[in-house]
Amino acid sequence: MNRAPSRLRSEILIRQKENDPVFFFDFDGTLTKIEQTPDEVKFRPIAKFIVEQLARRYAVGIVTGRALSDIKKLIGIRGIYYSGNHGVEIEGPGLTFVEPKSAESADYLDTIVPKLKTKLRQYGPIVQHKKYSIAVHYRTVEAGLVRRLLDDLESITRQPVKSGKVRLQLGKKVVELKAPVEWDKGLAIEKIVKKTRRSGKVFFFGDDMTDEFGFEKVNSLKGVSVYVGRLERKTHAKYYVESPAALIGELAKFLFEIG
Ligand SMILES: [Mg+2]
Repeated sequence: MNRAPSRLRSEILIRQKENDPVFFFDFDGTLTKIEQTPDEVKFRPIAKFIVEQLARRYAVGIVTGRALSDIKKLIGIRGIYYSGNHGVEIEGPGLTFVEPKSAESADYLDTIVPKLKTKLRQYGPIVQHKKYSIAVHYRTVEAGLVRRLLDDLESITRQPVKSGKVRLQLGKKVVELKAPVEWDKGLAIEKIVKKTRRSGKVFFFGDDMTDEFGFEKVNSLKGVSVYVGRLERKTHAKYYVESPAALIGELAKFLFEIG
């Protein structure tokens, strides 16, 4: 880990305005605040307006843990890049990609969704089937039951994890089952950057554990990594803003400056 991140100011963005930067955003907790369940989350018109304006001039990508089909619908902006399932699926100008191992595991995930739903129902989690992964969200689960839910989840998945059919990944009050492959948001960002053929700095804004791969990648590309939220844990990001609203504020100042 590097030193504590510094507060992102719009000046840092403004300095890059003529250099053809590329902007990547996570969605939940980055462009919008987190709600009790993923279905309650909305993309606010002001945030949409800002991202749209940015995309008129620069290459923009949304890199999320949600399914690609879901995020495309939520964002609803044409001509930008979308990556779902933490980088596994990518779609955008001149690029359509599904990570091959994840594509293979989709059928297997189909078969275990009913079992997970049935066995975990008693705790009240939200089990989201995202084609190339399954997310078990436990924000809605009573605090006293979380341990038991996680224990059950662990015992249900022990065998498939052992035999290399799936792996588990932790996020903010969520456990995800996915293909046992080293693939992450950082690799998706790199793939998209190559496609855009832009030479400017790569910006990535994110908030969750899975965004750390993006921060590390962007650091290695000498870009600008920005953590969104209160600094409650260590991060590889070089900068931070304290909330999604503060991020939108800095982007608005930047857009005002570039006219
Ligand atoms: Mg997030």
